[in-house]
Amino acid sequence: MQEFDSKQYKIYSWKNWMVLHYIINPGIAFNEIFLGMRVPKVSLVDKTQKDKPFIERSYVPCPHCNTLHDARLWSANYKTHMKNWFGLYCVSCGEIIPCLMNATTFLLKWLTFPVWYWFRDNWKAKWLAAQPKRFENIDLATFENPFGKNMWLKQGLSFGFFMFVFMNLISPLIDETPFNWKKVLISIPVWLVAGLLFGYFMKAFLGQKIKNS
Ligand SMILES: [Zn+2]
Repeated sequence: MQEFDSKQYKIYSWKNWMVLHYIINPGIAFNEIFLGMRVPKVSLVDKTQKDKPFIERSYVPCPHCNTLHDARLWSANYKTHMKNWFGLYCVSCGEIIPCLMNATTFLLKWLTFPVWYWFRDNWKAKWLAAQPKRFENIDLATFENPFGKNMWLKQGLSFGFFMFVFMNLISPLIDETPFNWKKVLISIPVWLVAGLLFGYFMKAFLGQKIKNS
């Protein structure tokens, strides 16, 4: 494993509670399997750049070429936060930066092993060939916090809407519970508030600066 200066960086690896939660939460499996969301095994946050928001102080190291990538390379702004089924593509060396795997994803992956095994190499080659183009026109100088200004409202509401639909339509289909109007009505304000809280939390979290004490 690479060594990092722990005086300069806060290091997020599997030992961090947020990362552990990522591995344990079964809901993450949906994002990983269908959307191709990936979180690198190691990420760093610079503790010395006190005037910069969190999102501009986050880095992803490539263990193959040791490049310290700006974490914003893989963001919703460039649609590079998804479709990373084989890991995070390193634009410097063309290798794949190792990522975490959610426990449920891991389980499903091995249970369905006989199905995808035969397609994997072909799929991976195609995926890899498509990567350089995705990162071609990224200009981080014009990057805007996806939750900044009033964007958190839109992001929060769409998250709330997605959860509302998922919990009321898709989830009952999976566990075969009968449709219940009362439950649906109650869940409207619940997901509205939860969505707005999520949006606001993300805005505050990603924009977080270190206050000089
Ligand atoms: Zn690399």
